Amino acid sequence: MTSPVNPPPRLLMGPGPINADPRVLRAMSAQLVGQYDPWMTDTMTETMGLYRDVFRTTNEQTFVVDGTSRAGIEAALVSLVEPGDRVLVPVFGRFGHLLVEIAERCGAEVHTIEVPWGEVFDPSAVEEAVVATRPKVLAVVQGDTSTTMCQPLEDLGEICRRHDVLLYCDATASLGGNPFETDLWGLDVVTAGLQKCLGGPSGSAPITLSPRAATVIDGRKHVEAGIRSDDDDDEDAAGVRIASNYLDLAQVMDYWGPRRLNHHTEATTMLYGARECARLLVEEGLDAAVERHARHGLAMLEGVRGLGLAVFGDVAHKMHNVVAVEIPAGVDGDAARSALLTDFGIEIGTSFGPLHGKVWRIGTMGHNARKDAVLVTLAALEQVLRAGGVPLTAGGGVGAAQEVYSS
Ligand SMILES: *Cc1c(COP(=O)(O)O)cnc(C)c1O
Repeated sequence: MTSPVNPPPRLLMGPGPINADPRVLRAMSAQLVGQYDPWMTDTMTETMGLYRDVFRTTNEQTFVVDGTSRAGIEAALVSLVEPGDRVLVPVFGRFGHLLVEIAERCGAEVHTIEVPWGEVFDPSAVEEAVVATRPKVLAVVQGDTSTTMCQPLEDLGEICRRHDVLLYCDATASLGGNPFETDLWGLDVVTAGLQKCLGGPSGSAPITLSPRAATVIDGRKHVEAGIRSDDDDDEDAAGVRIASNYLDLAQVMDYWGPRRLNHHTEATTMLYGARECARLLVEEGLDAAVERHARHGLAMLEGVRGLGLAVFGDVAHKMHNVVAVEIPAGVDGDAARSALLTDFGIEIGTSFGPLHGKVWRIGTMGHNARKDAVLVTLAALEQVLRAGGVPLTAGGGVGAAQEVYSS
């Protein structure tokens, strides 16, 4: 007989996923109710309200897309972008390339600007590119886990308003652990996921849409045959039909809204998880959660430096919740990660593209942005490095982190 699922105990200190908060897992073991049960629709409405607080917005259109973060990205882009539209993507890591790839699949004419991995853009460089390319959408990542950089967004909304551009942001890696202001920064569409600073499993993508983004998307609404009513727009009147049915935000907005248009069957268990992630953040307070990520992220940063390791990239623009550590000369990065996993049950991250084999990525996010998780990881890393022949001061990592905690 195949045995029941029984995963090994692991401490997930990579760039995500992380261990889910036990309270989120408990919420996800609750029984299902029917799709249009009043309790269910109330729970959906409550979840919308909680995510308004998380995104710091008053946007009516705030809900979750069923699927991992990438489903949120695709939903946003496929619903906004019509074939032939221009999209500008500032690329500063792997997830910028993903926005390019998805926008291209939507039929967009994609323009990019790039900085080397480990850097972020100056807003003036973004504005120059906006002026040069006149895009319909500027699509940008806030925190790119591939490089650990956090792109400042506070000026981009104003630039986009001035040039009549819609601003989309992928905040999957950063939301909940770094300052984020949908309304104050003038963002039109933001998407996220649960498995980073929100402390849940992957599988649900919170999203918020400004009224002007919602209007653009609503202009492309073609309600499915079989559920269409006389009030729905004449098929010929609406804009180009959105190329995906599942990720059609024009219909999904009506599914979450008072009309309760029949679309997909809500992923009820993920909804419970997403609701609990947001509830826990709101209960803690968004500012307190960001402060917690800043504190434990700093302890990890000083800890790896205390082990004599160099940190990759522009540290002044690093996300709070992940650090890229240069693998010391002579150490086999994958062998060291594997020793951490098998001997200590701790997972840290490898890297992609130009950074592969050069840096490890160590996260302190969500439920794992905690003192014990930071100190245990640093203590284990010291042992693995020593076994790899790296000369070290005993306790240098834990000691440096402890100094952050006692200051
Ligand atoms: C981790 C991450 C994702 C993850 O997407 P999934 O579909 O949930 O795997 C997307 N965007 C960014 C910026 C990320 O850091």
